[in-house]
Amino acid sequence: MSAIDRQSGSVRELSVTRLRDEVARLLVESNYVIPSDVLDALRTAVSAEESPLGRRTLEQLVRNYEVAAAERMPVCQDSGIAVIFLEVGQNVHWVGGSVQEAVYEGIREGTRAGYLRWSVTGDPARRLKMAGDESPGVIHIDLVPGDRVRLKVASKGFGAENMSALRMLVPADGVEGIADFVVETVGRAGANACPPVIAGVGIGGTFEGVALLAKKAALRPLTERHARPDLRDLERELLERVNTLGIGPQGLGGRVTALAVNIEVLPTHIAGLPVAVNLGCHSTRRAEVEL
Ligand code: SF4
Repeated sequence: MSAIDRQSGSVRELSVTRLRDEVARLLVESNYVIPSDVLDALRTAVSAEESPLGRRTLEQLVRNYEVAAAERMPVCQDSGIAVIFLEVGQNVHWVGGSVQEAVYEGIREGTRAGYLRWSVTGDPARRLKMAGDESPGVIHIDLVPGDRVRLKVASKGFGAENMSALRMLVPADGVEGIADFVVETVGRAGANACPPVIAGVGIGGTFEGVALLAKKAALRPLTERHARPDLRDLERELLERVNTLGIGPQGLGGRVTALAVNIEVLPTHIAGLPVAVNLGCHSTRRAEVEL
């Protein structure tokens, strides 16, 4: 291979205009229609909840999501910050402009078209301006084999995001330390995370890597359990533990504090044990498409 890349027949051209349009469409869709697995879990939770007030709250949440989908309106006043995940096939060649700018423009268009709240400030420290035309979302890109692109759009509410946490444990803390940190984080979040929550738990990697891992875990469908039996068991045990905290739906008391605990792991340094817990609220919104 020469120093200059050669174009091969397997390269697929993809227009950034299509990417922009799909980001806008999915942003609206994710804000109007709660994922079916989350809605199913909320419906199931109604019968699992022992507290009458908790049951009524869950019924109202389910009704809220049914009405939002039928009437085409946002599921929550907090339409969140757009978090965009792109799994890009390494044989894809983007044409027509900047990928980053296309994503940002898609977020702006979707926010306008869907009558969503402009929730992002471009001046986090002093709060003197909104993001406006700068950077209205967060983009994560993974390079994967092939010539397809998987686009996932998540609208992340900040009630739950604010209560998320990261801790650099040490190896001696072990599984017990991980479990205690997860339960502590959900307990400290209380009503602020808009329960029932989805607890995305990242274990391993590095300081920055474990936070992203936890976010990916929080966005994993609730119907998927971890493929490793020990981690699947830990997900179940942690769900049982957080559901004894008594926080309940919307923090009004009850059994159903969490719908799921999703764990993802990465190899890490022998001297460390990074753990992150990214909380998703009952309005966990995500939509995806293959381009
Ligand atoms: S945390 Fe979720 S449910 Fe609560 S206000 Fe924000 S988006 Fe809405």
